[in-house]
Amino acid sequence: MRLLHTKKLTLETPTGVRPYAILSHRWLADREEISFQDLQHMQVPPSEGSHDSHAELTFPSNVQGKKGFAKFRGACDHASRAGLEYIWIDTCCIDKTSSAELSEAINSMHAWYQDSAVCYVYLHDVGGDGNLQSALENADWFQRGWTLQELIAPDNVYFFNKDWIKIGSKATFAPILNKITRIRQDILLGNPCKPSIAEKMSWAAGRKTQKIEDRAYSLMGLFGIHMPIIYGEGDKAFRRLQLEIMKSSDDQTIFAWHDSLAHPNSVRNRGLLASAPDVFSWASPVVTIDHSHFINSLLRIAGSRSSFRDLPRGYSILNDGIHITLPMKKVGDAWLAVLRCKREDQEFPYGIYLKERPGCKDFLRTSPTKLQKLESADLEGLAPRTIRIVVDHHILPTINRRQFFTFQSIDSVWEHCGYYVCPKPGSRHDVGQGGGYQVLDPDTRIELSDNMQCGCVYSQGPYGEVTVLLIGIEHHRPWVHLLTNADLYRYVDTSRLCRRTVYDGPILMSSPTSTQSSNQTDLLSPLALSSPTSPQSNSNSPSALSSPRSLSLSPASARTNNHGFPKRHSTAPYAVQLRGGSTGCPVCSIIQNYSINTHDIKNRRVDFVIETMSDKQIEVDIRKGQVRISEAALEVDYVITVAVSVPEPEF
Ligand SMILES: [Zn+2]
Repeated sequence: MRLLHTKKLTLETPTGVRPYAILSHRWLADREEISFQDLQHMQVPPSEGSHDSHAELTFPSNVQGKKGFAKFRGACDHASRAGLEYIWIDTCCIDKTSSAELSEAINSMHAWYQDSAVCYVYLHDVGGDGNLQSALENADWFQRGWTLQELIAPDNVYFFNKDWIKIGSKATFAPILNKITRIRQDILLGNPCKPSIAEKMSWAAGRKTQKIEDRAYSLMGLFGIHMPIIYGEGDKAFRRLQLEIMKSSDDQTIFAWHDSLAHPNSVRNRGLLASAPDVFSWASPVVTIDHSHFINSLLRIAGSRSSFRDLPRGYSILNDGIHITLPMKKVGDAWLAVLRCKREDQEFPYGIYLKERPGCKDFLRTSPTKLQKLESADLEGLAPRTIRIVVDHHILPTINRRQFFTFQSIDSVWEHCGYYVCPKPGSRHDVGQGGGYQVLDPDTRIELSDNMQCGCVYSQGPYGEVTVLLIGIEHHRPWVHLLTNADLYRYVDTSRLCRRTVYDGPILMSSPTSTQSSNQTDLLSPLALSSPTSPQSNSNSPSALSSPRSLSLSPASARTNNHGFPKRHSTAPYAVQLRGGSTGCPVCSIIQNYSINTHDIKNRRVDFVIETMSDKQIEVDIRKGQVRISEAALEVDYVITVAVSVPEPEF
């Protein structure tokens, strides 16, 4: 553990156990916080043993000018005055450029807060005047994900206002902290008690983190679990968290969640796991019911001859679902399953509704907005059933989706582009069914629908080389496939090129055509005849490709719009077109000619590709952009960024 020396303001890794203070705060923008790198750039003090008050003189002015500097100094000063030699501050004690170090820190953070001598909570938005209680209620610190464990883990927590004036402690603030956070005072005061999984989850409900994964990662310590940190996994992090918790607990409150009534149209049938901590929220905590007490009450209602006596306590997670024995009964076309937990202020347990999946021999959670408060009568007619419940059920949304691709590039890679959309690759479809050739302007949004369509965007470089980007959507996720094969030029429709009169000088691709007249027939005949593994023909030798270079690719009228793209007329005369094979669809022809297994691409779900060629490197990156509802359709925008880098020539 790397600590900051409170007087010298240097980072040290002391051997042995040293008492340290720890800071809990709301992050400013990254660039405004004092970072690990900032502390590497400290200047050597003018003389040994310089006074503490001059310690800031050892920082370059750009570091001292950061908004986070006062917070950083305040924390160090308080710790130093409290006789603590060290402090841990998350902004600067972790080298975030090291993913291994970041992962270790995230997995250790709860322990570091727990082991601290004192935790200083700095509330940047709580001032010295006005009503303290309402200032606290509105403080940003209580809305954040990571600050939850920072409140609970340490024994000694002191709160400071924005001027670094101490305003209270976890103990003195216990009643108001309970009101704001819904955490029981017993827990805040450190009295022994064992909150259920659902109760802990409810503390996290409504809290926000900058990254979606942190909603799960920030809870690992509270549940005493560890897991690998995989930024980019998105919502899956919260699912992994639940699976990890379930490995070491038989607490069924983890299933006691309910979707918000505010979204009654959300997917009706679900897996057994919750989608986010927000679905765990109640007026009163959810507690587990003692196992023998639970069995006794079931026996009382069902009769002592019923088979509840052997009701297993635990359950198991296998790769095909959760195997569990629950008291169940048929209610309409669903099943009511009773959980071994209840709201603290209620007598009877909670029930959830399950539905058998036809032909699958497993169950889904249905009516996820209902976490049923059961009555005595609900418990009649129950019988234990051992079933398998789906962990995570991915349902295709019923709402219509429209997905758009917009292309961005900082260089001129999209200057000479067009695109085609194929209505159904591999099928026999009419020419132009997908709309045929279109000019790709910087603002063009290409619309694709799920599973059926595939697009082909192509560009042509100054030496005639053709680059093709196949794009598609599979299960709501975009994929791209980049083709830079030298023989792609054969898709260029030379007949259209020859008709152009705007430019004099050699025409793109004229060299392979004109120098290999025997090829002419080939080029104009339908493609998709040659095998993808066939050796390259003479016509695409480097010398042939690099000779026609005098074509001016930027029309004199080109101007730059606010995207940084040269603006073109949609009927740009130099925009070359691709030729298709027998169907006339270039997308199908290319897929067929290069034996591209679109199914394989979809499975790999490539959304970032780099292709290195002899003279340049092309990077393609897809990012999800805006998502919005319009005309009863969910519109999802993807931005595809393409960057071409040309290595410096070596002399
Ligand atoms: Zn097609």
